[in-house]
Amino acid sequence: MPEKFIPIADIRYASRVPHVPAHIPTPTGLLADTLGRPLRDLRISVTDRCNFRCSYCMPREVFDKDYAFLPQTSLLSFEEIARLARIFVANGVEKIRLTGGEPLLRKNLEVLIEMLAKITTTSGQPLDITLTTNASLLAKKAQSLKDAGLQRVTVSLDGLDDAVFRRMNDVDFPVADVLKGIEAAQRVGLTPIKVNMVVKRGTNDAEILPMARHFRNSGVVLRFIEYMDVGATNGWRMDEVLPSAQVIERLQTEFPLLAVNPNYAGETAERWRYADGGGEVGVISSVTHAFCGDCNRARLSTEGKLFLCLFASQGQDLRALLRGDFSDAQIGGAVGHIWQSRTDRYSEMRAALPADASPADTGRRVEMSYIGG
Ligand code: SAM
Ligand code: SF4
Ligand code: SF4
Repeated sequence: MPEKFIPIADIRYASRVPHVPAHIPTPTGLLADTLGRPLRDLRISVTDRCNFRCSYCMPREVFDKDYAFLPQTSLLSFEEIARLARIFVANGVEKIRLTGGEPLLRKNLEVLIEMLAKITTTSGQPLDITLTTNASLLAKKAQSLKDAGLQRVTVSLDGLDDAVFRRMNDVDFPVADVLKGIEAAQRVGLTPIKVNMVVKRGTNDAEILPMARHFRNSGVVLRFIEYMDVGATNGWRMDEVLPSAQVIERLQTEFPLLAVNPNYAGETAERWRYADGGGEVGVISSVTHAFCGDCNRARLSTEGKLFLCLFASQGQDLRALLRGDFSDAQIGGAVGHIWQSRTDRYSEMRAALPADASPADTGRRVEMSYIGG
C-alpha cells in the first residue's frame, strides 16, 4: 500500500491584485468565461476555522494547535462581504452559499444573513441564500438563522454509526447531535434540507445503505460525494474513492431507483428518486464524472481572495480593492474581467490522465477549509 504523504508546513496562498479595467461596461448579468460558462453561484467562506478535524479536509496532523489560522484583522467584515455580494449579483450571481471552515463558528452570522437577504437579483428575484454546516451548532441556531432570512441548509454527515462518525470527524462528535440539528432545521423550515456524505472506500462505505434507509421518506435529500483530491494535506488516494456508479449499484440492491432530470444547468449532483416514492437521492461524482462544462461557481475566501476553481492555487485579492479607493463599478469591472478570462476545468483535465495522476499544477492547491466547499 502506498504511504500517505502529509506535509507538515503550511504557507499562505499566492494571490494577485486584480486589474481594474479603464473602461467599465455597465454590468448586464450576462458574463461568460472563455468556455461560455455564466457566473451564477458564489460560495463565501466566512471563517477558515472549524471545530471538526475531518481527515479528508482538515487532518489534525496539519491543523493542530500550532496551525496559523487567519487573524481577525484579515477577515472580510460583514459590510465588505455584503458589498462584494451586491457587486457579484449585479454581474449575474443568483445564489450564495455560506461556508467555511464551519460557518456557524463566525460570530453574529445572522447579521450577515440579514444583509444578504435584502439583495435582489438582476431579474428582481430574491437571492437564493443557503449554508453548508457540520450541524454541531445547528440545533441552537436554526431559528435565528431562519429569522435572519436563510432559506435552506446543507448538512454534512458521513455515517450513522457513531464509532465511524466520531472517527471521521476526529473530535469525538456524536451522530445524535447532528441529527438533532437536522430536526431543528426541519422544524423551523430551513428546507428542503440536503445531507452530504463524503464516501471513503474502506472507511465509511458500509454506511451508504443505513444512511439511505434513515433519510428515505423524510423529505431530506441525501447526496453521496466522491472523496476528492482537494488541497494538499489530506493524503488523497484514488483507491479510497468509491465511484458514484458503485454507490448507485449498492443502493439499487435494496431500493430500485429512477433517474431524475437536473433542476438547472450546472447542478453538481446527479439526481435519482426511489421508485416507490420514498424521495430523492443524489451523487456528486467530482472524480469519476467531471462536470466542469457547466461550472458556474466562484469562491471567495475568508480574507477576500477570489478563486475560480476548487483546485486553484492562486486567488485574486479583492480585499485589496475593497480597502483601496475603488468604486463598486470599478470592482465589478475587475470581477467581470477575471470571470471573462477564466479557463479552469481541473476535473476534466484530471479525467484525461491515468487514474492515479494529477494534472500538472503551478503551485500548492488551496485547502477546502479555506475557500469552502
Ligand atoms: N464545515 C462545513 C461542513 O462540513 O459542512 C462547511 C465546509 S466543508 C469544507 C464543505 C463540504 O466539503 C462538506 O460537505 C465536506 O464534506 C466537503 N468536503 C471537504 N473535503 C472534501 C473532500 N476531500 N472530498 C469531498 N468533499 C469534501
Ligand atoms: Fe470542518 Fe467541514 Fe472540513 Fe469537516 S468538512 S473539517 S466539518 S470544514
Ligand atoms: Fe468547477 Fe474547477 Fe470543479 Fe471543474 S474542477 S467543476 S472548474 S470547481
